[in-house]
Amino acid sequence: MSEELGITVKKDEDISEWYQQVVLKAKLADYSPVKGTIIIRWQGMAVWEAIRNFWDPAMKEHGVENHYFPLFIPESLLKREAEHFEGFTPEVAWVTMAGETPLDERLAIRPTSETIMYEMFSKWVKSYRDLPLRVNQWCNVVRWETKMTKPFLRGREFLWHEGHTAHETREEAEEEMRWAIEWYRRISEELLAVPVVVGRKTESDKFAGADITMAIEALMPDGKALQMGTSHLLGQNFSKPFEIRFLGRDEKNHFVWQTSWGISTRMLGGMVLLHGDDRGMVFPPRVAPIQAVIIPIGFEKVPEVLEKARELKALLEGEGLRIRLDERKEYTPGFKFNEWELMGVPLRIELGPRDLKEGKMVLVRRNSGEKSSAEFSDTGAVKDALEGIQQDLLNSARELMKERTAEVEELEELKEVLEERKWAIINHCGREECEREIEAKVTGGPRVIPEEGGEPSGGCIGCGKKAAYRVYWARSY
Ligand SMILES: [Zn+2]
Repeated sequence: MSEELGITVKKDEDISEWYQQVVLKAKLADYSPVKGTIIIRWQGMAVWEAIRNFWDPAMKEHGVENHYFPLFIPESLLKREAEHFEGFTPEVAWVTMAGETPLDERLAIRPTSETIMYEMFSKWVKSYRDLPLRVNQWCNVVRWETKMTKPFLRGREFLWHEGHTAHETREEAEEEMRWAIEWYRRISEELLAVPVVVGRKTESDKFAGADITMAIEALMPDGKALQMGTSHLLGQNFSKPFEIRFLGRDEKNHFVWQTSWGISTRMLGGMVLLHGDDRGMVFPPRVAPIQAVIIPIGFEKVPEVLEKARELKALLEGEGLRIRLDERKEYTPGFKFNEWELMGVPLRIELGPRDLKEGKMVLVRRNSGEKSSAEFSDTGAVKDALEGIQQDLLNSARELMKERTAEVEELEELKEVLEERKWAIINHCGREECEREIEAKVTGGPRVIPEEGGEPSGGCIGCGKKAAYRVYWARSY
């Protein structure tokens, strides 16, 4: 493979340029003619579909029903919950004209759907018998980013799903918020092999309009944190302005308690950043668009090799695996090895005349380069190798996270740790002014108060007063 086809920078030297090359060259996405937006190509879309195929049935089993709400949200609706509106104002894209005619009311292009959904909830919920109400939609949203955009990580339009629920009690809603974040942890760790910290956002950092925001945060190789998903306890912050009331078991009227939660194609960015290497993409096998590629060797001279390769493909596909057979004649095996490595296929299966004679195939793991030999029809060996790669990716990401997490007590130490591309766990008093003061002195900000964070080990790192909690502090995407 020629130089321009491969990745031309090292991940360690320029992660930003490396990331863009991997995304583009491994056909995850491409830039579109509209600035800040991308085309998600087949390798990216397949991962999003794998997430959806895993998560959608779990939601349905929980009683969540899929809907579709309009892309347009009237300004009056968006404004009804003031804090929520303020949180989104700078990023809202508006439709103001129809042809040459100005519209009577501006329409926002959906930045999120709380308001339009809750307008409907107020019609749909009458009694406690209508609860819990669980609505989800898979859709796109638009947020007109002014910061530098980056494929998947920050863009003006992205795909996501948004779940919205209404409950009789706060306790029930809180449980729902936790149910969703636990599933997001599983999606991140079990599918994408991206380990995360689960926790609560600080008061200043939570979703505008939420009582509690929970998030999963992953540590990237450059020491920046990436928020991989959020789940909010909205309390009655929306049910009051939107008048979502129900006649309770006590024959009295009550406002519902609500949650909302979502994950987006941003997750794909985290997967690329964490697992890709100097040769290109490395897909975790469970979401890999192609799980194994078969490369027949010397089949121009020994046609039987190709026959056996086709037989093997059918055998593996019969086991439900996603297999590609590269029988192109115009490229050498070496070229094909490089190309499929760049494309991130987790496992390569080599099949040559000598292997054939011995009734064997050669398995090469993308992540480690480890080679092994297996009996030709041993589909179990292929499955084991894929599972092994999945576990290895998660384990080495966990290792990285462990190495790059530091508990610090002093501001000077926090500064150093952040410069060393780590994230820190600090003690904090929980006051917003104090948070701002720390932000003025070091880079980054509070990420998440871990669920299993333990008790503070000393006074607040900023002001020395009694610490309320331990919180992760990092630069972020
Ligand atoms: Zn403090």
